[in-house]
Amino acid sequence: MNRIQDFLENENKKFCIDVDDIIINTTEYWMYLLNNDIEFIEVLKENDKYPIKVEDIKTWDYMGHLLGDNVYKYHLNGTIYDEYTLMPYAKEFINSLVNKIGLDRILFVTASNGKNEDIKESILEKEFNIPSEKIIHTSDKYKYYKNNIFIDDAFHNFKDLIDCVETIPIILNSPWNEKYKETKLNRIYSLKEICDLLA
Ligand SMILES: [Mg+2]
Repeated sequence: MNRIQDFLENENKKFCIDVDDIIINTTEYWMYLLNNDIEFIEVLKENDKYPIKVEDIKTWDYMGHLLGDNVYKYHLNGTIYDEYTLMPYAKEFINSLVNKIGLDRILFVTASNGKNEDIKESILEKEFNIPSEKIIHTSDKYKYYKNNIFIDDAFHNFKDLIDCVETIPIILNSPWNEKYKETKLNRIYSLKEICDLLA
């Protein structure tokens, strides 16, 4: 955690923040939608997975294998944000980070598609007053994360960056990333841990 403090004080370092399941809680509402979708309920019941819960998602492949590619329709059509909630401590985290290092050093880096780019931008604007210029929509996060501090929940975004001494990777513990035990990941269990560092 000392290195995180050093990086926070280094004006050349940006703090890059993933949006889905770091700031906006998408998975919980997604599970609610699946548990209420007649297309999926029978399959879930047949597999003893009804109702499906966030804790069941140990790997994203699992969803596709069980329910087929159509399981992602709620992401693709943007419905997943209809009744979003924020992740615990997201408000405190963003507000104290902006106070501490300034918005200039903060970037939101999120994998989006044409249907949900605008929705995510309007949520970040409404909840945190974040202008759309601060939001990069890309699935290739590497070049933004490299040499900066970043927080994400998807392990594939950490590859090739874990050993980069100029980068601080922070992973927010989630059922789908618990199996990765690399100590250099800087695993946190709540955004409150960063809030405490910023206080
Ligand atoms: Mg994410």
